[in-house]
Amino acid sequence: MADVVGNLRVVLGEIEKAQRQRGTGEPVTLVAVTKNHGVELMRQAIDAGVKQVGENRVQEAAEKFAELERTVTKHLIGHLQTNKAKQAVRLFDLIHSVDGGHVAAALDKAALSVGKVQDVLIQVNLAKEDSKSGVYEENLPALIEFVDALQNLRLRGLMLIAPNYSDVENCRPLFRRMNEIFRAIQSRRENFDFLSMGMTHDYKIAVEEGANVVRVGTAIFGERIY
Ligand SMILES: *Cc1c(COP(=O)(O)O)cnc(C)c1O
Repeated sequence: MADVVGNLRVVLGEIEKAQRQRGTGEPVTLVAVTKNHGVELMRQAIDAGVKQVGENRVQEAAEKFAELERTVTKHLIGHLQTNKAKQAVRLFDLIHSVDGGHVAAALDKAALSVGKVQDVLIQVNLAKEDSKSGVYEENLPALIEFVDALQNLRLRGLMLIAPNYSDVENCRPLFRRMNEIFRAIQSRRENFDFLSMGMTHDYKIAVEEGANVVRVGTAIFGERIY
């Protein structure tokens, strides 16, 4: 059994340290990634002080949230299938994984049908990995324009999943570049607040380079068993 309370303390301490190193004073939000863990562990994390949870699959999240009996801010961090858009809009406060016009349009329609303005992030595939979804940097302006034209979505920022380099320092230039892109857009928009990047193996570097949302699972809950 993972020591969730102890692990959380370590992760929050590391975030604070990285934040100090960065020196901007901007707060960093921890999203505890509970995918593939039972609702019991989710409750335990919330009781230990977690305020935000992340799930990568709509169906799994729906089942767990139905039994949670706790209030928490809910994040969808995985790729969305458009046939799950309506359910996603009902369940999640922030959807990190808008990776193209198709998903954006489906979410907009779903948000309209449930009478909600859905907060979203655009996922950027900065390293152009075939195995990952996300828009390429050169297509980002067009996708932003597309999302802006949709009445029922509100674009809140950007999300990045860095490549799983064996030397994690190799992520640093990507995080730095992502932060530059994010800050440039932020300087000319309102409500563009969130740069979501950093997972267990790279969240310290991500925060040092400008992330203000990190998505951490393994470091809090231990290895996932699939
Ligand atoms: C699983 C997942 C995470 C958390 O990964 P860990 O390595 O367990 O911290 C973060 N972001 C996304 C998009 C994920 O799918």
